[in-house]
Amino acid sequence: MSTLTITVVGAGITGLWQAYELARRGHAVTLREATSESAPGAASRFAGAMLAPYCEAEAAPPLVQQLGLEGLRLWRAAYPGVVQKGSLVVATSRDRAELVRFARMTEGHRPIESAEMEALEPELAGRFFRGLYFPDEAHVSPRAALAFLVSELKRLGAEVRFSDPVPEPVWQAAAAGEPVIDCRGYGGRGALGDLRGVRGEMVVLRAPDVQLSRPVRLLHPRFPIYVVPWGEGLFMVGATMIERDDMGAVTVRSALELLGTAFAVHPGFAEAEIVELGAGVRPAFPDNVPRIALSGRRIVVNGAYRHGYLLAPVLARTVADYLETGIAHHPLFAPAGKEIR
Ligand SMILES: Cc1cc2nc3c(=O)[nH]c(=O)nc-3n(C[C@H](O)[C@H](O)[C@H](O)COP(=O)(O)OP(=O)(O)OC[C@H]3O[C@@H](n4cnc5c(N)ncnc54)[C@H](O)[C@@H]3O)c2cc1C
Repeated sequence: MSTLTITVVGAGITGLWQAYELARRGHAVTLREATSESAPGAASRFAGAMLAPYCEAEAAPPLVQQLGLEGLRLWRAAYPGVVQKGSLVVATSRDRAELVRFARMTEGHRPIESAEMEALEPELAGRFFRGLYFPDEAHVSPRAALAFLVSELKRLGAEVRFSDPVPEPVWQAAAAGEPVIDCRGYGGRGALGDLRGVRGEMVVLRAPDVQLSRPVRLLHPRFPIYVVPWGEGLFMVGATMIERDDMGAVTVRSALELLGTAFAVHPGFAEAEIVELGAGVRPAFPDNVPRIALSGRRIVVNGAYRHGYLLAPVLARTVADYLETGIAHHPLFAPAGKEIR
């Protein structure tokens, strides 16, 4: 197969995985990112980044779980930083009905009680007496994973250009006939009529005295939150889900909800240092499933919503297969009529 020359626009998790997949197949890749190398990935910087195909099925169509299991396998094969400790879902005794509901809506878990809670997360024992354990789920530390993909791209000989915003229309970024893959996240909404933004706020805490080794989701009827250990004493507490594309600073209301619920998971967070309060905008289509839209050599990959880390390797592989074979038979391809502007 001949080597293709391809431009990828956007170095969030979607664009980085896309560029990486193409570069490791031997194609000549240029990746162009608007921001500096210290802060690429408008939404991707703020993600958990849980690789949780089963838990996500609570609020996503079955396709997300099915592709997510494949995404998890591809992450494990590519990145040594995947933390394979499963995830834990807990609720207070008062909210036990939430646990029953979550168990009904998801697969891949087993119920646990006090003894196993103590074995898995000793510091939660005595606070939570029941939970669901998803042993096959995993997580990564997002900023380390983004940096890994950048370094892999450079090692593979790709051209990586930061601080290089591509003006509209982005498909003019390459010579005529060469493919351009638009992975601009919510920044690419101008190309897609039905993309919306879903604001997600998060807090990063430094809590060297808190020992949690896997993501913990606390079910709550109003403030469901999760805590993800990012390593080196850092914990990400997330995330709000607000149907707005506001990229402004975290509000007091959201900070109170996130911090209050983190404290409910583990009182040790009271002594934590607040390292960062951040907000990202998740790009989402009406069905909350990502989409690959084609128009000749223009390819738009967007709408990763809550699943960008989980599904990025699958999106990347699907687009790379298409470029090499010309075959576009996959549920991720946009249906006819979903034109790119
Ligand atoms: C709080 C929060 C928690 C989340 N948790 C998880 C999780 O646990 N697991 C999971 O799988 N997903 C999670 N997500 C979802 C995930 O983060 C997103 O789906 C994903 O980041 C989308 O990635 P993206 O690359 O498509 O977009 P982005 O990350 O937004 O990246 C787009 C990039 O394109 C660049 N760009 C834009 N315009 C231009 C231009 N003209 N020229 C060049 N570059 C341009 C931007 O600067 C940016 O770097 C979470 C999201 C949030 C906000």
